[in-house]
Amino acid sequence: MKNNKVTWTNALLGHIAKGERIPKSLASNYNQTEVKEALKTESKNKCMYCESNVSHVAHEHIEHIKPKAQNKFPELTFEWTNLGLACPVCNMNKGADYDNNTPFINPYVDNPTDNFIAMGHFIYNRPNKPRAELTNRTIELNRPELIEKRKERIESIIRLIERYHSMNDGALKDALLAEINLEIADDKPYSMCSKSIVEAMINN
Ligand SMILES: [Zn+2]
Repeated sequence: MKNNKVTWTNALLGHIAKGERIPKSLASNYNQTEVKEALKTESKNKCMYCESNVSHVAHEHIEHIKPKAQNKFPELTFEWTNLGLACPVCNMNKGADYDNNTPFINPYVDNPTDNFIAMGHFIYNRPNKPRAELTNRTIELNRPELIEKRKERIESIIRLIERYHSMNDGALKDALLAEINLEIADDKPYSMCSKSIVEAMINN
C-alpha cells in the first residue's frame, strides 16, 4: 500500500472532483492482506475501541479513524496512520462521525488510561475529558453485550486471584501470579478492566 498510496489517492480524488463513481476496486485498495496483518499485529487482534477480540478481519472492520466518506477525508483512505482495527459494532456506531475539534480517542496515539477509568466491568471517561466522553457516548463503550463479556472475563480472573490468595507462599503461588499477569496482558481482551481488578485485589 505504501508504494501505491499517492497513485491511488490521486485517482480517488480525481474521481471525486469529476463527480464520478469511485470504482470498487480502487476504493477498497486499503483492504489488503499485508495491511490487515500489520493492523492485527499492531492492535494485538483487538478492537481499538472496545478491546474485543477481532480475529477475523473483514473489509468493513478496517477502521478509518478520520472517515473516508467523500465529504469527509477521502484523501486519507490509503493513509496508514488513519487506519485501525475495529469490531463491526464499534465501527458502525462511529460511522462517519468525526469532529476535528473533538476527535475520538485514538489508542494508537492517545493513552487510554489518561482518558478512561475501568471500575469493575464499566468504563468511565475521566472528568473534564470531552474527547473521552464523546468517544464513550458515540461508540457506546458500556453497551450490554460488552458488559456481559467483560463480566465473564473479570470473573475468571477473580477465580485465579482467589486461588492466589488462598495459597501459602511457594512455587504454586508464584505460578498463579504469573498466570494472572498473562491473563491481564495487553494482548488479552478487556485488559483495561482486568488490570484494574488485579490492581485492586492483589496489589493493594
Ligand atoms: Zn469494538
